Amino acid sequence: MSKGILFVMSGPSGTGKGTICSRLLDNKENDVFLSVSSTTRERRKDEIDGVTYNYTTTEHFKEMIDNGEMLEYAVYNGNYYGTPKHAVETTLDTGRSVLLEIEPQGALKVKKIFPEATLIFILPPSMAELKARLEERGRETPEQIAERLDAAKWEMEQSRLYDCVFVNDDLDDCVKEVEKFMRDKMEKKRLVEELLNEKY
Ligand code: 5GP
Repeated sequence: MSKGILFVMSGPSGTGKGTICSRLLDNKENDVFLSVSSTTRERRKDEIDGVTYNYTTTEHFKEMIDNGEMLEYAVYNGNYYGTPKHAVETTLDTGRSVLLEIEPQGALKVKKIFPEATLIFILPPSMAELKARLEERGRETPEQIAERLDAAKWEMEQSRLYDCVFVNDDLDDCVKEVEKFMRDKMEKKRLVEELLNEKY
């Protein structure tokens, strides 16, 4: 059986990529598995351990790195975030596609390990809108928001290294565009496999 496609989605904090990913997964016609990352950041009230992230200590996170359990990891605003290797590789081996929602340092590491991975970047319509969205969701302190906006500049520069870039101006439209892009990619892969298996 051929491997699934590895999709990697990045975008500045507040750009709406988390919501886009949930919407993509809610639609059962999109046969995509979302990888659950590990992090040392504190769990927020609305988050579920084992679903949103696997929350762990810095000590345990470093042990996982040393044991080669991480496909990639990065430090973002003082916390470790990483993708567990085993779940991603075994899912891809079953032919199912996998979606990672990670920041660009990690995404670019993944591209080195899996050059065939498809990198998707989500941009906000403007910096003013990004700031407004971060303030509106009220999850971070003003200092943390400032840090996230600073990080956003470097992150957006990396978008030129991605396979495709979408602007999340209207959420519904953006979800439709990303969904179409991913489905086309899966459909073309299926077609190529069919052609390669065809007897002539
Ligand atoms: P948040 O704290 O808002 O949940 O996430 C902060 C940033 O870390 C986001 O850009 C998110 O995409 C990224 N992130 C989440 N999981 C991972 C991961 O496993 N690896 C990397 N490199 N970044 C991650």
